[in-house]
Amino acid sequence: MKLSYDLHIHSCLSPCGDNEMTPYNLVNMAKICGCDIIALTDHNTCLNCESAMKVGEDIGLTVVPGMELCTSEEIHCICLFPGLKNALSFSDYVKSTLPPVKNREKIFGNQYIMDEKDNILGSFDLLLTTASGISIEGLDELMKDYGGLWYPAHIDRNSYSIISALGDFPLGLETPAFELTYEADEKLYREKYAETKNRYLLRSSDAHYLEKLMTEKCEIELKENSAKALIEKLSNIPKI
Ligand SMILES: [Zn+2]
Ligand SMILES: [Zn+2]
Repeated sequence: MKLSYDLHIHSCLSPCGDNEMTPYNLVNMAKICGCDIIALTDHNTCLNCESAMKVGEDIGLTVVPGMELCTSEEIHCICLFPGLKNALSFSDYVKSTLPPVKNREKIFGNQYIMDEKDNILGSFDLLLTTASGISIEGLDELMKDYGGLWYPAHIDRNSYSIISALGDFPLGLETPAFELTYEADEKLYREKYAETKNRYLLRSSDAHYLEKLMTEKCEIELKENSAKALIEKLSNIPKI
């Protein structure tokens, strides 16, 4: 089945995510905007995924538990998991590698952990937009341990992308996909970077505000509408 997707969305748990991006609001808005499957990818944490998944179950929208990991090289990577348990254990591990820098809400914004009914359960104490202690080297293996997969986010951006940080793709990169912003020219990246051959190019909104969810979505063919089917599909690199 062809599914309309958005696999890069932030909630109010990301300090840069708008307070209106509650799990309830963002999942409902994604549904209104025509998404069939979304991933919640807050910076360095999966702690709002459970609530978003509950909202998704209630309204019939698949929510994949995910994270936008900031590696020690300051590269943003989309990490996706087949289930909540995997995501939460990875989230715990990432937290253990974060520098001991507390969030300053007035400067960086709130980091709200919320339930599925818009109640605030608490705030994440450490600043979530810092680089974690996890290097891009070994991320393939690490993600296998957690049953998930990762791919570099917004490779066409001038900051926090694999190309802006390293100048190029590291040799031997095994990621099954690359993310481009909606504006980027796929052909240009395919031609310029041989590493993108036989890899999925995915485009998502990177929404931090509800309005940003109102963009035209891309589609992916999956055998069923589930997080597991998405992981399975992306784990099998296409023959283009
Ligand atoms: Zn990013
Ligand atoms: Zn992002």
